[in-house]
Amino acid sequence: MKDFDYVIIGGGCAGLSLAYELEINDRLKDKTLAIIENRKEYRRDKTWSFWKVFDHNFDDCVIKSWNNFTINTSESSHELTSKKFPYQSIDSGKFYKKISSKLSANSNVSFYKNLNEINSENSLIFNSVFQKKLDKSDLWQHFQGIEIETPNRTFDEDIINLMDFNCDQRNDVHFFYTLPFSKNKALIETTWLSDLKDQSLMDYDFQLENYIKNNLGIKNYKINFTEKGAIPLFYPSLRNDNKIINIGSAGGMTRLSTGYTFLNIQEHSKYIVNNIKKIDKVKTFNLGKKYQFLDKVFLRVLQKHPEKMPNIFFNMFKASSGTIIKFLSNKSNFIEDISIISKMPKLIFFKALFN
Ligand SMILES: Cc1cc2nc3c(=O)[nH]c(=O)nc-3n(C[C@H](O)[C@H](O)[C@H](O)COP(=O)(O)OP(=O)(O)OC[C@H]3O[C@@H](n4cnc5c(N)ncnc54)[C@H](O)[C@@H]3O)c2cc1C
Repeated sequence: MKDFDYVIIGGGCAGLSLAYELEINDRLKDKTLAIIENRKEYRRDKTWSFWKVFDHNFDDCVIKSWNNFTINTSESSHELTSKKFPYQSIDSGKFYKKISSKLSANSNVSFYKNLNEINSENSLIFNSVFQKKLDKSDLWQHFQGIEIETPNRTFDEDIINLMDFNCDQRNDVHFFYTLPFSKNKALIETTWLSDLKDQSLMDYDFQLENYIKNNLGIKNYKINFTEKGAIPLFYPSLRNDNKIINIGSAGGMTRLSTGYTFLNIQEHSKYIVNNIKKIDKVKTFNLGKKYQFLDKVFLRVLQKHPEKMPNIFFNMFKASSGTIIKFLSNKSNFIEDISIISKMPKLIFFKALFN
């Protein structure tokens, strides 16, 4: 069996982002890399969206960027604008294609289906696969999105609807998310923050149909693409050691209060590549203890008071656009943190500190 210097387990977003970062920084000229990926084929399966708070390698995979977004409840709507930090959506199909074609030109990089096919005894391993089944009774962000196309000009393509809470909450936290890619094409997602045990929340087709018809007033459309997922809003108990570094969702790159992961993965990949020669000596990358603590308190409130969350999210977005974007993208300073915290209802957050 062949030996490799580096092994990446899971060739998804984190595994391929890291491989690409190693390749473009010439770290695979004299090192070998095996990527262990068990999927049959790469095709568009996700749309990764985020505020672009720093440059990344995938501008050519962006479907669209926006400067305006709204959030609304059944009573009110609030619009924000940010020229400095646009919101971007990446087509995963283009992302996979770009990286696969770059890596295929380097004979030091090989793909395998199973770790048993290689000798990884002396390799530095980057792992993006959860090692055990995650707890369904914990908190998840679960959702289904459809890209629809209408015969007429239906959408305002300049503005996204980040969270629309004007929908059935069913004693949990539920919102719709609309990304208009053009005047007649948009991705519409139904999103829940809840455990995964309650199957009754998963009638996503019905929810989408109903929302598109009754809230958006669209009767005639075709579905181009469907995506579905569940992001754990808790950290897996995986430990890094000298030989295994966890990356991606399995490496704690998800921001728990939002589910945003893509840009954190890019930052982590850059950190690894910059430190690859002394990776066993540098400290493990994380999203910041401050955000881990604040998100924990936030999610405690969410679990205890789901009915209050539409207004809590709505008020949070009353901060200036730069402040809220930096906060949700783990880039805020102390003053900006205080500005967000001051928008929260004091008593229930204070109580959540102690249980
Ligand atoms: C539908 C969807 C939409 C999302 N949208 C956003 C978004 O808009 N913005 C954002 O920031 N985040 C988003 N996320 C969250 C996060 O960015 C993605 O889940 C991202 O793909 C995580 O990257 P990853 O590498 O950790 O996991 P993945 O991309 O899932 O990669 C893991 C890889 O491991 C492979 N694998 C699994 N088991 C094995 C095994 N035993 N052996 C070999 N290979 C294996 C899988 O096939 C997969 O390719 C979304 C998630 C989903 C599911």
